[in-house]
Amino acid sequence: MYCSLFGHDFQISKKVTQHVREFKCTHCNAQMTTNGQGKLIPLTPKFQEINAVLEQINKKRLKRKSELGDFSI
Ligand SMILES: [Zn+2]
Repeated sequence: MYCSLFGHDFQISKKVTQHVREFKCTHCNAQMTTNGQGKLIPLTPKFQEINAVLEQINKKRLKRKSELGDFSI
């Protein structure tokens, strides 16, 4: 009810990648995410899945980068 009157109050709940974030409303726990174009869209189970994959890819990439960094020292 609160949100339908005042709108959602989204806070970042997870940083998936540099560009993709997940948001959660502090009042009703509605979840949103940003897609590849940076648009805010509802976080459906499908997008939860996509974000989980993106997160894994992103973590691997970061890990590889740091490994390369260690290697060059
Ligand atoms: Zn809300």
